[in-house]
Amino acid sequence: MSDETGLEPVAELTGDTRLQVAKKTEILLAGYPGAAALITGECKVLRANAKGEGLEALITHGAIPEISDLVKKAEAVHTVTAGTVTLSSSKGEIILDLTVVPVEGTQYLVLARDQTMEKNLRSALVESRQRYKDLVEISSDFCWETSVDGTFQFVSPKGALGYTADELVDSRADGYIVNPEDFTPIPFDSRRALDDVEIWFKHKDGSHACMMLSCVPLYADKNGVENWSGLRGVCRDVTSERENETALTRARHREQILGYIVSMIRDELEPDNMLTAAAKAATRALEVVGCRIFRLTDPGTFGIAAEYGNTADTQALDKNLTDLSANGEVKEFKIDNWHYFTVATHYRNVINGAIGIWVSEINGTWADDLKILVGDVANQLGIANEQIANHERIVALSRTDGMTGLLNRRAFFEEELPRRLSRLARSRETAALFYVDMDNFKLVNDVHGHQAGDDAILFLRDLLMDFSRPGDVIARLGGDEFAMWLDGISPEVTESRAGALIEASKSMQKYSGDLDHPLGISVGVAVYDPVDEESFDAMLARADDAMYAVKKDGKGGFLLAPPPARN
Ligand code: GH3
Ligand code: MG
Repeated sequence: MSDETGLEPVAELTGDTRLQVAKKTEILLAGYPGAAALITGECKVLRANAKGEGLEALITHGAIPEISDLVKKAEAVHTVTAGTVTLSSSKGEIILDLTVVPVEGTQYLVLARDQTMEKNLRSALVESRQRYKDLVEISSDFCWETSVDGTFQFVSPKGALGYTADELVDSRADGYIVNPEDFTPIPFDSRRALDDVEIWFKHKDGSHACMMLSCVPLYADKNGVENWSGLRGVCRDVTSERENETALTRARHREQILGYIVSMIRDELEPDNMLTAAAKAATRALEVVGCRIFRLTDPGTFGIAAEYGNTADTQALDKNLTDLSANGEVKEFKIDNWHYFTVATHYRNVINGAIGIWVSEINGTWADDLKILVGDVANQLGIANEQIANHERIVALSRTDGMTGLLNRRAFFEEELPRRLSRLARSRETAALFYVDMDNFKLVNDVHGHQAGDDAILFLRDLLMDFSRPGDVIARLGGDEFAMWLDGISPEVTESRAGALIEASKSMQKYSGDLDHPLGISVGVAVYDPVDEESFDAMLARADDAMYAVKKDGKGGFLLAPPPARN
């Protein structure tokens, strides 16, 4: 039970007749809107009003023991006493405000007011307010109210945009909008409700924050007229969502461009054309002035493998690549009119080339997206460069004789000779084909073993190389059979060269299995003159026939094949 204090003491009942008091008591009892009962000092109910039946029953059954305390107190100080009692019932708690009024003699009026409903309503209201407050604060980052002049009148306690609530209150709300001119009207001047308007705000730290603003207008009654008095709203910070979306869009864009460039490389089956396709696709897709792709052929030498676009005056680029690895493998520099951006390409962490792009103007520095993209393209080119190098190795292997490193028969007849003959057709120079077969070679193997035979083959290779110049070509056609093609040689020099070769071949005799059958060479020589327009096969046959003629004639010499018959 709780007592309420500060109540005025009730007036002494002097001057009133008993009858008058009793009448007044009856009127009070009957007129009291709630439950009321007249009791004795011993808490015995004398009478109760119409609504007081329940109260009477409660008092009679001693269910409100607090009542006797209230009566005693009222009796002691001749004053009205009041208290609140809580009773348990089958329907839950009942809260009663009790007032005990001393009336006449030892009688007391007990006035009861059921507070249960009111209390429940009040706590429901408090709870519902708290609920809304919690929900609003959870679902938004920033709640606010603005007044007619567009200043913040209320801001949620934790503040917003890096400012405290105090800093924001009384400041103009539109002052925080990044581009207020984009809005007509400014959202803080809206006369109607707004829902999820996207606005970029200036954060205190200088950054920008993207907020979704929703608000309702406020109207105040002034002399019976509803006047707009401001706005109440919430803002939800969606900056990271927006940034993620932007990053995702940019990544998708980069992926598309990369996909295009990669497909251009993949679609090109011919390794030699792969990089040209890549340079072209990169120049277009990256929207640059030009692109050059390099391959690291010798250590430290970046050779131009492909290029596209405006390549005038870009030699400076090539020189600037040498220290790519020392420079973190990415370089940006400006030479003359061009801004260059270069990235090394790799295969298994080893640099195998580079890509360089250039433009005439850049806005400060190269855009991050472009740099990422060139890095991605470089990754693909690293693989392409490796594939090309592999292809070249395979081609080289398929063209050469493993033991001597000379061209093999197929490469010599199918690739090298046709190419050289067509070149001669333009230069109109003569050339010579030497067909060389060792004499008595089998005996070397038979007498000294296969290794000695191999040594003899290598010896002859070196001898033939001594008799040729860098532009000439030597091939091992198989076994102990070789061919040598001398470009641009005259018939006279051809003859003296053949004679000198035979002379020098005497040094091979040291490998001989039998000195009666010494190791040497028989050489058939066909001089080729483009004027004759001799067929390829006819020329081969002339050289071959000449060689066999020497064999037949006792070996160890050369024969110039007769020129083809002229029409
Ligand atoms: P000829 O004077 O008539 O040319 O007779 P030859 O003894 O030189 O014998 P021929 O040209 O008919 O045969 C070449 C021999 O070379 C046959 C083969 O056993 C041997 N040979 C072929 N390739 C190799 C090789 O790579 N190493 C060695 N040691 N011997 C080879
Ligand atoms: Mg032979």
